[in-house]
Amino acid sequence: MFQLIQIIFIGLFRFCYFALLDTLGLNGTRRMNDSENKSEIIVKGNGTELNNTKALQGRAKRKMITQKMALSLIDVARIKGEDERIPGYWNTFHCQSRVVSSEGKLYGDYCKQRICTVCSSIRKAQIMNQYLPILREWDEPYFVTLTVKAVPAKWLEGRVKDLLRAFKIITERYRKRHQRGKGKQLIGLKSLECNFNPQAKTYNPHLHLIVPNGEIAETLVNEWCKLWTSKFVSSAAQNSQPIRDREKCLMEVVKYGSKIFTEPDLKKKTKQNCSPFIYVSALDNILWAMKGHRIFDRCGFNAETSYKRKAGKSMPLKKYDQWDFDPAQSDWVNSESDEVLTGYMPPAELTVLLANNINLLIE
Ligand SMILES: [Zn+2]
Repeated sequence: MFQLIQIIFIGLFRFCYFALLDTLGLNGTRRMNDSENKSEIIVKGNGTELNNTKALQGRAKRKMITQKMALSLIDVARIKGEDERIPGYWNTFHCQSRVVSSEGKLYGDYCKQRICTVCSSIRKAQIMNQYLPILREWDEPYFVTLTVKAVPAKWLEGRVKDLLRAFKIITERYRKRHQRGKGKQLIGLKSLECNFNPQAKTYNPHLHLIVPNGEIAETLVNEWCKLWTSKFVSSAAQNSQPIRDREKCLMEVVKYGSKIFTEPDLKKKTKQNCSPFIYVSALDNILWAMKGHRIFDRCGFNAETSYKRKAGKSMPLKKYDQWDFDPAQSDWVNSESDEVLTGYMPPAELTVLLANNINLLIE
């Protein structure tokens, strides 16, 4: 059992759609003319505040982790002969590799890939802005986990599809009944996740939900067990509990890829003398099993909130500094002065983990 804990997989690996990444005003750059050092460039979005050192150092950390993961995923895709996966991983590798600063703001390209922890943190902020006000209005929100029994890699893709289909069957049934004036509608926020068990080499796809009350939570768990039957789900593995801290709960649900080597996990596991690993092949399997599926979604209600998406405006820049990410320094370096952008210093244990604890064995 201790080995199971010892070999911590990336844990709950969560992904999302990045279709609307520009909503936080963090958009890309495009070179207009490379013939001169300071040719005019076009930047989009509102940029990131340069004086927010903590946020920029967080981005440097995510950039460092993501580059390492992307290279490992490229290796694994090559070994598996899944070459069509490689360009997307390279996209992620290059995400925010070059950024420019101008008048206190930072601009750069975003890959918008699910695996990218730089992009997922932006998506996370967007979801928090959009859904926390709604969650705060719910009377007695519950956190629900709906899960199915673990499966080997070859069944994962099908099981993910079935899981989402089952949820839709249940919610549609209640929606139609509600339309006929018979009973409640099942509303909530849901996110799709998948755990990997490195000992058993199995995958456990599941749904996390936040629902407005205990009645909906109970209905979902009951209907889930009834639809799947005890052959595919264990009723004891389903979970439903009242939420104490709404903001914290929503943050957990939308964490996505940032679960990998986040600071608290890292410290906690180090204290317990457990060494986390990233199982890259399993990660690749999960990514592709979830491809095309919406990872975070609302169900049964429209998200009309005061949160408005801001369209990224394009703006020409003539005066700017250019910074390129240097993996050796875990930071962006000014192309002219060699100054570093954020001053981020990775903790020793993170450097060691990224050097030693990436498992490339094919699962
Ligand atoms: Zn990215």
